Amino acid sequence: SLHARDIEYTIHPYTNLRAHEEQGPLVITRGDGVYVFDDEGKSYIEGMAGLWCTSLGFSEKRLAEAARKQMEVLPYSQIFSHRSHEPVIELAERVVSMAPASIAKAFFVNSGSEAIDTAIKLIWYYQNGRGKPNKKRIIGRRRAYHGITIAAGHLTGLPYARTGFDLPMSDRFFHVTPPSLYSEGNPGETEEQFTDRLATELDTLIITLGPDTVAAFFAEPVMGAGGVIVPPLSYFPKIQAVLRKHDVLMVSDEVICGFGRTGNWWGAETMGIEPDLMTIAKQLSSAYLPIAGVLMSQSFYEGLADQSAAIGNLGTGYTYSGHPVAAAVALETLRIYDEDEILNHVREVSPHFKRRLDALGGHPLVGEARGVGLIGAVEIVKDKASKTHFDPAIKINAQVAAQAQAHGVILRPVPIDSVGICPPLIITRSEIDMMFDGLEKALDGVA
Ligand code: PLP
Repeated sequence: SLHARDIEYTIHPYTNLRAHEEQGPLVITRGDGVYVFDDEGKSYIEGMAGLWCTSLGFSEKRLAEAARKQMEVLPYSQIFSHRSHEPVIELAERVVSMAPASIAKAFFVNSGSEAIDTAIKLIWYYQNGRGKPNKKRIIGRRRAYHGITIAAGHLTGLPYARTGFDLPMSDRFFHVTPPSLYSEGNPGETEEQFTDRLATELDTLIITLGPDTVAAFFAEPVMGAGGVIVPPLSYFPKIQAVLRKHDVLMVSDEVICGFGRTGNWWGAETMGIEPDLMTIAKQLSSAYLPIAGVLMSQSFYEGLADQSAAIGNLGTGYTYSGHPVAAAVALETLRIYDEDEILNHVREVSPHFKRRLDALGGHPLVGEARGVGLIGAVEIVKDKASKTHFDPAIKINAQVAAQAQAHGVILRPVPIDSVGICPPLIITRSEIDMMFDGLEKALDGVA
């Protein structure tokens, strides 16, 4: 059977491999709209849009057609050494024109992790070019998810993605408190006091390390894999004031938030960030093909260009950077967003999403229900007043996700004891109801 062959040959990321030998896989065979179907024909609402990525659902024929056409015309061409092709040129122009005003140029890669690693390399290269070879340290947040390649893995602040791997660059990467008032707020602390304290923590860290040693701060506008942390609106403006004071670059990791997830094109807009760099992936192509990118300001680009002239080469990039088929699919994705007014759709249905989410906040098991746009999470607690979690060994969030799956809704266990919700952006109001009905039944089932 497929199950037995999977266990025999396939290694799964983020999986307890021994448990997998017992349990085997959920084999998905096809998708239609926001639904996917397993090999026994059971249907599920994909309440996680795959891994926070299939914005247009699972059956957008235009994307298949865009890929087919490009494969017939020019399936591959490189963009190293002055070579180019039309899909990458059009995509760069279109992405930059959608991006915040500070953004001027695009560098394409194949995954979110590669985008983060490339951003870090470019930042180091840029600082060398500016004659600031000591300004190399990177600050992120605990609970951040920025991917798993070596540099991105250092920046990620989640123990489950770090433990057991040697991550030795301890003098280059630092983590500060994530902006979750619910988990990190002191008793009685107001939102303003909380965000003041976090800005002071960052300021103090930069001063302690030495501002001349700190290059950049990376942040997801809304933290995704770390538990869907929606910061107070006063958070980023205060953080950004600290960064400006110390000449530290602001990198907005838009891998999940980019392209409409939070109700604006960019999480940076929703959260009041003015980025020097942005990393993009996932919804850039609705995940129909792997493609990602690093976007940057004109002044950052000028630094790179000067340094490449001095060295004679910008010595980084991938065989598949700006892959023409992936670029054509991304371009078609962005056209569909425009023509189908996806942003308006998200703004129309997200108040209903928020109502259903907020209502779960009253459930005896839910400590906090949080979200913005079409991304959210419920945090499951044993005791609401003290916010205590269940015994970690119980893995309550995995139980809730498993029950939801039995009720035909795919969701994702995330820290701390939360269940993440991030449906395709095309989801309708009635599908939102079906998704939350499934989650409600799951919560009742484990209560
Ligand atoms: N950055 C963020 C915010 C992410 O959520 C992810 C993946 O979920 C990444 C980076 C890494 O992307 P990838 O898995 O494509 O390497």
